[in-house]
Amino acid sequence: MSTAVIEIRGLTKSYGKTRALQGLDLTVERGEIFGFLGPNGAGKTTTCRVLTTLTKPTLGKASVSGFDVVRQPVQAKSGMGVVAQHTNVDGELSVYANLRLHGLLHHMPSALREKRIDELLEFVGLTDRQGDLVRRLSGGLKRRLMIARALLHEPKVLFLDEPTVGLDAQTRRRIWDLIRRSHQAGVTIMLTTHYIEEAESLCHRVGIIDNGKLIALDTPASLLASTGSHVVEEVDGSGRCCFFDSREKASAHAARTSATVIIRRANLEDVFIRLTGRRVRP
Ligand code: ADP
Repeated sequence: MSTAVIEIRGLTKSYGKTRALQGLDLTVERGEIFGFLGPNGAGKTTTCRVLTTLTKPTLGKASVSGFDVVRQPVQAKSGMGVVAQHTNVDGELSVYANLRLHGLLHHMPSALREKRIDELLEFVGLTDRQGDLVRRLSGGLKRRLMIARALLHEPKVLFLDEPTVGLDAQTRRRIWDLIRRSHQAGVTIMLTTHYIEEAESLCHRVGIIDNGKLIALDTPASLLASTGSHVVEEVDGSGRCCFFDSREKASAHAARTSATVIIRRANLEDVFIRLTGRRVRP
């Protein structure tokens, strides 16, 4: 039996002359936290929008939980939760009313709906705020509400598009904790991010996307191993990086060069630099 939850084959999406996706192939297995990492404009949101049935591909196929997202959008959507990049909870309704509305839209039986609302308010730490108007919540609390709402109807797959963008470091860690705990509860997770630390800290596998193409796909550890564990980086303007598989080799190179350099451990940004010559976050 296939354990694939998300299958993407030859996915292409054009907006006029812009080719946002250029023949993407990807499989996400049940139980993974999969991260889609790439710079702004790489095609991450477009992929999410196709998978969550918000836009149709120009060419190629995609399925979620075995349902084709173009031909069976209702079935595909019923098993997924979506946390969009932009805040899309209703500010004029209370926290509780936002959740209740979502449950009604998903035709949840009322007893199950109320039970899940209680559980999820507790899960995201909003029980005490359930009567508050959402417009009075901070950005971090709104994001927590969006996660609660996305999980309410017990989806098998959770899509999170840049879940921590614009949030402070402490709130970001709290969201990471919620993502980990959702995964422990059995939800497969696909998230997009341009934060290197987010991909390294959360994801079992990472796909690196650039210009609508997947340019690397592996575990964070294997991606780092293929790049070299240590980097000698010029810090006097050029930012040029050289990669080595040990600190000793990096130190020997640093001793030979006349440039001002630092030696540091490699991260996923270095994988991107090595593959493209550019940075994820310019
Ligand atoms: P990312 O999420 O990685 O930042 P996107 O998927 O948003 O990237 O965008 C990929 C490319 O598609 C970019 O060049 C972007 O400008 C373009 N694009 C995305 N959405 C639209 C749209 N609705 N109309 C025209 N171009 C778009």
